[in-house]
Amino acid sequence: MTWSHWFVTPAVTSLFFLLGVLTLYWFLTNQIIQLFKKHGKWPNEDKVRTNVGLIYMVALNLGVQLAVNHTSNSWVFTNFVIFAVVFLSYFLMLDIHLWQLVIAILLFMALNGTFTYVLSWLFAIVFIAYFYVMKYVRNHRHHMWLDYVEYTVTSLLLSAVLWGVVGQRFHLSSFVMMWELIFSFFLLSIMYVYVDSLMNSAATVAQLTYTTNYDELTHVKNYFAFKNDFSTDFDNCKSTHKPLTLMLFDIDHFKHVNDTYGHLAGDFVLSHTAALITEQLKHIDPSLALYRTGGEEFTILFKGYTTDEAREHVDDIANSVRAAIFNHGGNQINVSISVGLTQLQTADEGQLDIYRRADQSLYYSKRNGRDQITVG
Ligand code: GH3
Ligand code: MG
Ligand code: MG
Repeated sequence: MTWSHWFVTPAVTSLFFLLGVLTLYWFLTNQIIQLFKKHGKWPNEDKVRTNVGLIYMVALNLGVQLAVNHTSNSWVFTNFVIFAVVFLSYFLMLDIHLWQLVIAILLFMALNGTFTYVLSWLFAIVFIAYFYVMKYVRNHRHHMWLDYVEYTVTSLLLSAVLWGVVGQRFHLSSFVMMWELIFSFFLLSIMYVYVDSLMNSAATVAQLTYTTNYDELTHVKNYFAFKNDFSTDFDNCKSTHKPLTLMLFDIDHFKHVNDTYGHLAGDFVLSHTAALITEQLKHIDPSLALYRTGGEEFTILFKGYTTDEAREHVDDIANSVRAAIFNHGGNQINVSISVGLTQLQTADEGQLDIYRRADQSLYYSKRNGRDQITVG
C-alpha cells in the first residue's frame, strides 16, 4: 500500500495530535501560572506562556524527530515543524536572536546527521526565513479577515517552499507533496482559529481579574482585593502568632483640593499620591501593597510587622506625601495624610476588631489637628 492511500487516517490522527499538543500546552501554562498565584506571586503571564512554549515545542520536535531519525521517513513530521515554527513566531511572537535560532538548527542537523546535505542547509535557511516572515506578518496586523488572509497566504507560500526542498531531498512525488500542502493549510487554519480563541479567552480572564482587583484611577489594589488579602493575612497571622499591623490613612481636606482646583486636579493628586507610595513600598518591602479602600482613603497591610517595626516606614510615607508638590494646570498642590495605626492583638476575634481600632485612631488623628499618626 502506498503512502497516499492511507493518507486520510494519519491526517485525522495528526490533526487530533496537534490539537492535543496545543491543549496540553495551554493546560501546562495555566497550571504553572496558578502555582505562582497560589504562592502569592503574580507572574507576567505572557512571559510564562512564551518560555514554556519555547521549551515545550523544542522538546516535542526533538522527541518526534528522534522517533524517525535516520529512516527514509524522516520527512513525515515536516508539517509538525511548520506548526511549531508558526506557533512560536506568529502566536507566541517569541523574541529570539538569529544566533540562537542558528544554534538550535545546527543542533537539530547534528542530531539528524545532515550536515553534508546541501538541501538540508537550504531547508534551514527557509526555516529561519519562515520564522522571521511570520513574525513580521504578526507585527503588522491591521484588520480581522485581512489578517487571516495574510497569515494563510504567507504561511502557505513558505510551506510550499519548505515542502519543495523536502520533496527534492526525499524524492517525493508531486501528489504526496500536494496532499501534504493541503494538509498544512488545514493545520494552519485550525491553529489560527483555535489558538486565537484560547488567547482571547485568556486575555478576557486576565482583564476581568485585573478590573476586579485593581482600582481604575490609581491602579493600586481596590477594596475587594483588600478584603480578601486582609482576611487571608488575619487568619494566617492569628494562627501562626505572627504580627500584623494595619495602616489606615486618609488625605486631609481633600474636598478643599477638589473645590479649589477642580475634580480633575483631585484625580491627579489621588493617582500621583498612590504612585508615590507604591514606589516607596517597593524599596521598603516589595511584598507590601497599597490599597485604595475609599475615595481618598488608603490602607497598607504590614504583614509580619509590629507597629514599632512599621512605624519608621509609616513616618517615611507620611513625610514623603507632605513633601510632594503636585503640579496640575499651573497649580502647585500640597496635601498631607492622617493615619491610624494598630496591631493585631490576641483578643481580636475577627478582622473587624482590628479594623475598627485603626479607624478610631484615624478619627483621633483627624480630630486632633490632622497630618499626624495615631497608634491605637
Ligand atoms: P478630612 O481631612 O476630614 O478627610 O476632609 P476631606 O475634605 O478630605 O474629607 P471629606 O470626606 O469631607 O471629603 C472627601 C472628598 O474626596 C469628597 C469627594 O468628592 C472626594 N473624592 C472622593 N473620591 C474622589 C475621586 O475619585 N476623585 C476626586 N477628585 N475626588 C474624590
Ligand atoms: Mg479626607
Ligand atoms: Mg475620607
